[in-house]
Amino acid sequence: MVWRATKGEFLLKSPVVILWTNRAWLVALGTIGIVMAFLLILTYVSVKVSAPLSEAVCGKTIVIDPGHGGIDAGAKGRSGVMEKDVVLDIGLRLADLFNRAAVYTVLTRNTDDGLIEPGNRSHANWKRLDLEGRIALATEHNADIYVSIHANSFPEQVWSGAQTFYHSKSDDAKELAIAIQKELVSRLGPNLRKAKTGDDYFVLRKSTMPAVIVEVGFLSNPREEALLAQADYRKQVAEAVFYGTVNYLVESYKKGRLQEGDESRPSSDLPSEFTDIQDYASLYSRARAALNLEENEVALYFAGPTNFDDDLMPEVREIPGLGAESNPDSRASRVVQELIKGPARGSVLCPTLPRGTCLKSVKIVDNVAYVDFSEELMENHWGGSRAEELTVYSIVNTLTDVPGIKEVQILIEGLVSSTIAGHIILDEPLSPNFDIIEFKQF
Ligand SMILES: [Zn+2]
Repeated sequence: MVWRATKGEFLLKSPVVILWTNRAWLVALGTIGIVMAFLLILTYVSVKVSAPLSEAVCGKTIVIDPGHGGIDAGAKGRSGVMEKDVVLDIGLRLADLFNRAAVYTVLTRNTDDGLIEPGNRSHANWKRLDLEGRIALATEHNADIYVSIHANSFPEQVWSGAQTFYHSKSDDAKELAIAIQKELVSRLGPNLRKAKTGDDYFVLRKSTMPAVIVEVGFLSNPREEALLAQADYRKQVAEAVFYGTVNYLVESYKKGRLQEGDESRPSSDLPSEFTDIQDYASLYSRARAALNLEENEVALYFAGPTNFDDDLMPEVREIPGLGAESNPDSRASRVVQELIKGPARGSVLCPTLPRGTCLKSVKIVDNVAYVDFSEELMENHWGGSRAEELTVYSIVNTLTDVPGIKEVQILIEGLVSSTIAGHIILDEPLSPNFDIIEFKQF
């Protein structure tokens, strides 16, 4: 009866019920007291927990750099999705997320236009000025972090997965890249890609604060192109970059606090990596010796065949009469011509030089090979920072294998400081990159 009665009924009908009701009030008051005490404790704990978050994040300045823009569309997907549009949208969403967390943001562009208009400058001059301007903006604003957003591309459709790059000069950039990559993988997976060094990327080379390039996926992969065309997916990408950056800031803050209290900073918990350049060089020379090249043979470096082998791999090729070639410039020129032809018929490897590329000249001076290509190297390139890096080092690593060449200066239409796809400025002779070679294939 009590359970079915309305509130008004049991107050009037029975003293037992009234007694029960009084006890109920006591129980209710007690419960409310316990809940309030619990809430107070919870509030205290949550303030304690979130305090580092707000102190670590609020008031920071982050430069968000959506790559390319204007007449430089960057990479293009088969169904027409353009890198410049995708990265601008993600950049704007990212800025919004940071602003809501009381983080100052500086966008290097918030419209379709690039930072600097080409005017009547040469392509090389304009791209360099544009990239320099983006870094200058970050320096002017005394930014704490620089996040450049790009989309990748490759001649083979199979390559996929978002990936974050950093410069090996900065441990902080490495930690930031690892934190962002972790969120990209957990939120957008499946993806086996790891944070990777990209020491030749201009913005990473020139930045004075922790800087990363986030390649949000491959526009050359139809599945990822379709995903990147969806607003909801771009929102998830922005969230992944946001949470990765926040996690990095909180971790840095905690380490800073530990350091303040105790001079003996704990050793980094980053996975140990094989980064000693000397080790790479000796591994490379041993691996190269194992190729056992004949007098007329060279090792040509092409891109790996699968999504998990996005490094350079050697193909041994015989060039008749190469050993008897006495002119070093002609010898180097013949090797580059073979590289332009691409991997041998039936090879699983991928080309690194775009169709239509012509070699204009090779001149060796003081062990530096000056290699001049036609504009198709730039105009027909498929874009993407990693793909650009593979193109550059397929040329550099192949040529520095030729006796008498230690460094390579790549030129386009006779110009130094050119760029093939807008991420690497070819402003100085380059040494071979041992880190970019897949050793297991030797
Ligand atoms: Zn790009």
